[in-house]
Amino acid sequence: MRRLGERKEGSPERSELERLVRFYDPPAIDDRPGSGHPTWLEANGWRLLARPGLDGSGEEIQRFLLPDGRAISARLDPGTGRVNVPFSLAEVYLNYVHETWRRSTRLRALSPRQLAAYYHLKRFIPRPVQLSARRVLIRLQGDPEFPRWPLDESVFRLLRFYAKCALLTAGETDLPFIWFWPRPYKAAALLTHDVESAEGLRLSVDIADAEEERGFRSLFNVVADEYPIDWGIVRELRDRGFELGVHGLHHDRSMFSSRAAFDAQQPGVKRMAEKLGAEGFRSPALHRVVDWLGDLPVSYDSTVPHSDPYEPQPGGCCSLWPFFIKNLVELPITLPQDHLLLALLGHRTIAVWQTQLERIELMNGLAQILTHPDKGYLGEPKHRALYVEFLDFLRDRSDLWIPLPREAAEWWRSRDAGHDVDGRFMRGAARLDGEGTVTLAPESMLSRREDIPHTVDVRRRLGA
Ligand SMILES: [Zn+2]
Repeated sequence: MRRLGERKEGSPERSELERLVRFYDPPAIDDRPGSGHPTWLEANGWRLLARPGLDGSGEEIQRFLLPDGRAISARLDPGTGRVNVPFSLAEVYLNYVHETWRRSTRLRALSPRQLAAYYHLKRFIPRPVQLSARRVLIRLQGDPEFPRWPLDESVFRLLRFYAKCALLTAGETDLPFIWFWPRPYKAAALLTHDVESAEGLRLSVDIADAEEERGFRSLFNVVADEYPIDWGIVRELRDRGFELGVHGLHHDRSMFSSRAAFDAQQPGVKRMAEKLGAEGFRSPALHRVVDWLGDLPVSYDSTVPHSDPYEPQPGGCCSLWPFFIKNLVELPITLPQDHLLLALLGHRTIAVWQTQLERIELMNGLAQILTHPDKGYLGEPKHRALYVEFLDFLRDRSDLWIPLPREAAEWWRSRDAGHDVDGRFMRGAARLDGEGTVTLAPESMLSRREDIPHTVDVRRRLGA
């Protein structure tokens, strides 16, 4: 089996984790999966799903606890200088971002049959009753232990652990990589909206006005066959520089009810994308089978939440960065939705959005917000005022890149390919200090240490 970092002769093929960090020259880490079933490992509050292999010898870099109380360790062999990790780092990464972890977790989700019944009954239940029922459910459930809500650091910790193993393998204190975002930005943010009704499409113009006044453009996702579409508004939004996307053919779970249903709907998605001039897709109510999304006839998708325990399909990829599913770029939704925060949880301020954005910016990730222009969402004046407050909060953040989602997807592709077409690449570096702490930052920033987050638990001294 190919080890992480080890490439086939003459092939630029990288593992998905290597594509995230994008070292210019990834060192070959000796990470071997075991042959058993995946199991949860734990290290100082960090949970990862892996097939544990054999413990090697050498200085301990990090110890991982198994559910049965045994421990296995990643080690540095002082003789050979090789780092040995007793599981596959690439596999751990995919278990997060493809939501494979859901199979190894008892979820508080509704079964497909319960979901079908829910959608059947929903139209007969008045909206206020629906809302209060969901509120009660949320209170009973409480916040889950994994993924953490609203922010889960699992992938952040994995990428730093991977960088540490790479640094120790290379015997370097600095390793250069292609920085996550174009020069000169530290992090990125995307403004996106799902339009749920004909009235929502009319109200989209108000939202677009508020954004344009502040110099922003955003994405509006439209459902193909759910409500009459005013194509005049679609054209207006497009002419003003906003992006249009496909929000499913019908606003239900039908596309993901079976693989046959998924395949049957793809020609319709393609036609709708052409009509809208769309390059992206978002599934209705974020229904999904992550592995299938790679077969959508679009360039990118933004359906997978970072962490969302309260949707009809709870889950999350735990990542703050885009990732690939086959050749499709996935842009995760990383801020709580307007509906959850303002309608269900009843927040009267944007404090959660602000804190989440600041934390994502510190971790150099992607902050993607999903709101709805419709009645019951931003269509309510008090909710709209909060969204405008959030736009004002974004306006003065000069370290934040705020492109259209299709531009972010295009960037992620060119970064992955190593094609610096217009000089936007910036060198980042992974740095290991004498205390075993890893930081990832633009090279030009590594001297300004106060800007760099230190949220990873690392041992005070290697092997101590
Ligand atoms: Zn929707």
